[in-house]
Amino acid sequence: MKFNTKVIHAGVEPDSATGAIMTPIYQTSTYVQDEVGKHKGFEYSRTGNPTRAALESSLAAIENGKYGACFGSGLAAIDCVIKMLNPGDEVISTNDLYGGSYRIFKTIFEKYGIKFHFVDMLNLENIKDALNEKTKLIWIETPTNPMMNIIDIKSIVEMVKDSDAIVGVDNTFATPYLQRPLDLGADVVMHSVTKFLGGHSDVVMGALVTSNDSIAEEIYRIQNSSGAVCGPMDSFLVLRGIKTLHLRVQRHSENGKIIAEFLNSHPQVDEVYWPGFESHPNHEVAKNQMSDFGGMVSFTLKDDSLEKAKRIVSKTKLFTLAESLGGVESLIGHPSTMTHASIPREERLKSGVKDSLIRLSVGVEDAADLVKDLENSFL
Ligand SMILES: *Cc1c(COP(=O)(O)O)cnc(C)c1O
Repeated sequence: MKFNTKVIHAGVEPDSATGAIMTPIYQTSTYVQDEVGKHKGFEYSRTGNPTRAALESSLAAIENGKYGACFGSGLAAIDCVIKMLNPGDEVISTNDLYGGSYRIFKTIFEKYGIKFHFVDMLNLENIKDALNEKTKLIWIETPTNPMMNIIDIKSIVEMVKDSDAIVGVDNTFATPYLQRPLDLGADVVMHSVTKFLGGHSDVVMGALVTSNDSIAEEIYRIQNSSGAVCGPMDSFLVLRGIKTLHLRVQRHSENGKIIAEFLNSHPQVDEVYWPGFESHPNHEVAKNQMSDFGGMVSFTLKDDSLEKAKRIVSKTKLFTLAESLGGVESLIGHPSTMTHASIPREERLKSGVKDSLIRLSVGVEDAADLVKDLENSFL
């Protein structure tokens, strides 16, 4: 089955009890047992729920994986990945990381004896330097948030294939429509389903997908043992969101290109970070591992001041000032005071998150209206 068919059909069977075409919202915590130890596949909704199960199959299918697992948030999914590790294990991650991922690594897991190396993954030598026999996980995010750096998944998989480390990819920004890390050799894919997969800014959820039997066993053990699962209503909403994923991300990408080009020619704009530009440092890698470039665009101002950036983000009307991304509506954010405020300024500047950096999640509205909205915000 091709991708555009999978988003609509994969994992979703007519309900066996009633024939309902859409997977019902099984709003139940528990299930009747015919006799002791004899049930219909579901015992308790932390362990498994039919609505969640349909979503987990759908997600596995669209990432070309065998197993999907859904969680109460993207961070709960990351929490599950790190809980597969033991004290003394080491993780190599990118230094240009979603702020919440950095926070869970530094403030939750470091104290349990797991060591994190944050390196610039654009230079693969940095990974080689940090790699040792204790390295158990390489954690990649690409495109990165908010600098839109592109990290070469295939080369990293190749580099660590003789080590004990598994490769995990946070595929939130790209979505499986644009990039499928398991096909590139990664072991586990993570999503903040909250973003493009949900797509309508009405659910917080996370997911993991893998094709590796023993990793899947660990994921399900932790999902059930730690219990950070999502509910059936949210699972239903995301099943519905996924049905238009291909249409939405195609339009996000078209609009993203128009906005990136508009900003690039604007006299007040300094740099535009969007992997579709030939001048983007890893444009070639992006072309190889992604099918298009998406609707996430960041830029800095020639006047690199907090004040100017704050003025712009408060003046746009269609681009709403808010955290998050990936919904049908356009959002504008100021990473250094919002999503990345938990990263110390020194660290932020090292990875390029300047005071004037503005991040756009370009929605699926009419592109001409979006351009006009940005134009007005510069006045
Ligand atoms: C939002 C986000 C997360 C965290 O997901 P939540 O659903 O907010 O917990 C992780 N990684 C990236 C790239 C994100 O954008």
